[in-house]
Amino acid sequence: MDFSPSERAQHWLAKADAFFQRYVLPYNPAWHHSVTQGVYPPPFLQDLKALAQEEGLWNLFLPSLLPGEPGTRLSNVDYAPIAELLGRLPWASEVFNCSAPDTGNMELLHLFANPAQKQRWLEPLLAGTMRSAFAMSEPDVASSDPTNLQTSLTPQGEGWVLNGRKWFITGAAHPNCRLLIVVCRNGAAAPGQADSPDDTHLQHSVVLVPTDTPGVSLVRNIAMLNHLAPEGHCEIVFKNVHVGKEQLLGLWGHGFAMAQARLGPGRVHHCMRTIGQCELALELACERVLERQAFGKHLADFSNVQDWIADARIDLDLARLRVMQVAWRLDQADSDSQQRKTDIAAIKVVAARLQSRVVDRAMQIFGAMGLSPDTPLAYFWSWGRAMHLMDGPDEVHLRTVTRSELKKARARSGQSGHYFTTPEQMRAPPRIT
Ligand SMILES: Cc1cc2nc3c(=O)[nH]c(=O)nc-3n(C[C@H](O)[C@H](O)[C@H](O)COP(=O)(O)OP(=O)(O)OC[C@H]3O[C@@H](n4cnc5c(N)ncnc54)[C@H](O)[C@@H]3O)c2cc1C
Repeated sequence: MDFSPSERAQHWLAKADAFFQRYVLPYNPAWHHSVTQGVYPPPFLQDLKALAQEEGLWNLFLPSLLPGEPGTRLSNVDYAPIAELLGRLPWASEVFNCSAPDTGNMELLHLFANPAQKQRWLEPLLAGTMRSAFAMSEPDVASSDPTNLQTSLTPQGEGWVLNGRKWFITGAAHPNCRLLIVVCRNGAAAPGQADSPDDTHLQHSVVLVPTDTPGVSLVRNIAMLNHLAPEGHCEIVFKNVHVGKEQLLGLWGHGFAMAQARLGPGRVHHCMRTIGQCELALELACERVLERQAFGKHLADFSNVQDWIADARIDLDLARLRVMQVAWRLDQADSDSQQRKTDIAAIKVVAARLQSRVVDRAMQIFGAMGLSPDTPLAYFWSWGRAMHLMDGPDEVHLRTVTRSELKKARARSGQSGHYFTTPEQMRAPPRIT
């Protein structure tokens, strides 16, 4: 296992870093000013995107990018440090056409869309001329278990009618959001389709719904811990929305598997962006403790602060190593899919815990200022809190890891006898075979 960056990876990371420092970071105050004034996306974003695309700093997240598709193809291992860099500013990924949820949606379309769907939706997404959202969670059911989802597809003529309510749909308030990728429960099948089977994992399908379809209404943008994201985490109602057969993505009844497939590399990106935010939080905290004094000492001289800094460095490096290991496994075509699933579940929990811990201490170090909007910490903290839920709550990921561990234990059952030294075992030791 080798995560050392190739020459090519070093080249693209250096290029992304130079672009970030020269063109993106200096615009950060202007970005916030524009959004506070209600102008979103800020007018300069389009120019930055065009410049980044000219430089080849485009669609870097997509290892399956095909010749002729715009951008630069990087492996997951090579893209990971760039995702870490982009994580330092919540809006930087969009400049490079690498922002969630579009990244996962592009992966999904790459894998499952037919040629006509690719032309209509994938091409403009790869070109960065539109945005998209992935609509799965529903207010009325526990959405951490996707087999619960109720939004329905009922046959009508040659197609279906879609009815239901989704919420926390990230990106749906972006003015360029044109596509909703909606996970629905199969009703009775449409003509020519098999009926809903008994298997709970085959009862959902995915449809591609343009945002301007009659019957689709964006009810509200839901604030997250009082932070209203301009791109939105939205509640959306679908009322008697007509869906044609050509809008079905992939196979009928395979929505569950597609939703799982979508979350692989996307989780690695989320985790690396988190690590970028935590690195920045640690940098800011270290600079602060060197200049701020209380009770006649710099804050850096208090032993609890020293421990927080050391713990943050250790936790960050451990998390990065683990995420890089998963990125590496994703790059290996022959890696075990079950192991990949467990790994991805594990790093999602690692990253959420890291962000809550590191950013919380950085906020404490900053005193009251840490809770204000004057530093990025309060935003990072609320994002860290959301990480414990979005793309599935920690408990569900822990369950995946536990299942894998217990499966291994079942397979080795009875093999650990030699480690026990109870009086009974010493009298009658297990037989050596
Ligand atoms: C900022 C943000 C952005 C989001 N973006 C999107 C998006 O773009 N698209 C989308 O579809 N959804 C999105 N979501 C929704 C998110 O995916 C769901 O909130 C998540 O899957 C949990 O579903 P739920 O809220 O219905 O919680 P529930 O399913 O009701 O679960 C509530 C709690 O029950 C417990 N629990 C559940 N299952 C288990 C278990 N097996 N073992 C132990 N405890 C358990 C957990 O503590 C869990 O937190 C977003 C959420 C947030 C906060």
